[in-house]
Amino acid sequence: MSNTLNVVGGILFEPGHENHLRQTDFFIENGIIKSFSKVNGIETVDVNGAFVSAGWIDSHVHCFPGESMISIHPDKIGVIKGVTTVIDAGTSGANTVDIFQKEIIDKSHTKVKILLNVSSDGLITLNELANKDAISYEKITSVLKRNKNIVGLKARISSSVLGDMGIEQLILAKEVSEKCQLPLVVHIGNAPPEISDVLDVLGKDDVITHMYHSKVNGLFEKDGTPKGATKRAIERGVKFDVGHGMASFSFHVAKRAIENGVKPDTISTDIYEKNIVTPVGSLGITMNKLIAAGLSLEEVIQCVTSHVSDLYDLEDRGRIQTGLRGDLTIFNVSEEATIGIDSDGSKINLEKNVKPTMTCIGGKLYSIENGVV
Ligand SMILES: [Zn+2]
Repeated sequence: MSNTLNVVGGILFEPGHENHLRQTDFFIENGIIKSFSKVNGIETVDVNGAFVSAGWIDSHVHCFPGESMISIHPDKIGVIKGVTTVIDAGTSGANTVDIFQKEIIDKSHTKVKILLNVSSDGLITLNELANKDAISYEKITSVLKRNKNIVGLKARISSSVLGDMGIEQLILAKEVSEKCQLPLVVHIGNAPPEISDVLDVLGKDDVITHMYHSKVNGLFEKDGTPKGATKRAIERGVKFDVGHGMASFSFHVAKRAIENGVKPDTISTDIYEKNIVTPVGSLGITMNKLIAAGLSLEEVIQCVTSHVSDLYDLEDRGRIQTGLRGDLTIFNVSEEATIGIDSDGSKINLEKNVKPTMTCIGGKLYSIENGVV
């Protein structure tokens, strides 16, 4: 028989699915989920009562080593961490994305999608929008024609990135994203520009990443309630992403924001070589921090599966359905308390922890953390 696999004995974890929390078997053929009953006589893996969700998608990482200031290989943050797809958030731009595709994406086990940096050079430097000629509509449209892994555009809009340039770079990026009909993902940080000016440019299905940073120019008032511009953005349908990173996830800010009803649409790590050990760890550890901040297990799983696929039109993944990719994350939930750390160095008591044990990408199984890739 062709390339086939049964995954049996797992408990489906997909909120809203008719079989959510019921024992479910999977038959995967040629990378696609074919049915929910096993087929005799083929390779079969018994996951012994573990949860099985759609493969986790980390929607903000940096995985273009060699051509950028901040990166890590996708297989170090993906397949061995329970993550089946990563979305690189602007490490490459129009001038460098072809090398990224050829040297990294085509050779990785972990699936990689791209948010193309609006700056042609991507993150070769970290002030990529300080030059008035940094954004080229012609170069971006030309790349879009040949690279179908691009699912959105990325612009880092904070003072160190922009140099003497200002909000006009964001306005230009927004014009380009509208013409290309792609979501614009915006990194926020220190002013200028003021956060209210940044938010007011964005519309439905654009994304703010680093939503829970603790810098002055954040989305929330001192009392933890959302600023006026934040509320207006939510009403317009702007989406919000965690983007943990080295300096962008404050547990205190997150907890109070969630108490005030501002939850993330997507949970992501902003992971790369320098923040993987501490404070970020992995997507799973980041999800556990959000559970500690007040989200339910159902919410955190949706923030790394269906919410991501809906936002970036990843129609072949992010849900459990026949005909979709055979991408699964197999995980347990432990009540054993551990300690996490946020970007401000504060300790977080993690009392409920998701722990991935296996990753299935297109019907191929990988175990976690033992290097079998
Ligand atoms: Zn980033």
